[in-house]
Amino acid sequence: MEKTEISSLLNSRKLRSTKIRQDVLSLIKNSGRAVSQSKIQKFLGEFDRVTLYRTLNVLEDKGILHKAYTENNETYFAICTSNCSPQNHQHKHIHFKCEKCMVVKCVKPQKSIEIDLPNFQINSLNVEVTGVCDNCLLN
Ligand SMILES: [Zn+2]
Ligand SMILES: [Zn+2]
Ligand SMILES: [Zn+2]
Repeated sequence: MEKTEISSLLNSRKLRSTKIRQDVLSLIKNSGRAVSQSKIQKFLGEFDRVTLYRTLNVLEDKGILHKAYTENNETYFAICTSNCSPQNHQHKHIHFKCEKCMVVKCVKPQKSIEIDLPNFQINSLNVEVTGVCDNCLLN
């Protein structure tokens, strides 16, 4: 994703286009997968943990990023599609963690996930699946 593209995405959510927001979003977007918080931290270097933590929170609040996977205190973040809006994440996809290459990815299932909970309101839905990814199965 280009700088101007990220800026307009941030602007559309009424966020200023700061360097740390730019860096976080371009890292995740360009990697094409979910990126762990510690990897983001390493990549950013110059920013401290608190600043990064706050940045990730804001981007999640505004419907730009979502938590894809959490394990052992490590959280993976992925970019949202345009379906997400502030305070309302709509992901009809699966979060797949490959046990071989350890990659976490957002994967669209062939059949859409429909979950109905009568009398309950669903605000977010996160389906975590582990296994072996398409890439690893080929090799
Ligand atoms: Zn989302
Ligand atoms: Zn794999
Ligand atoms: Zn996802």
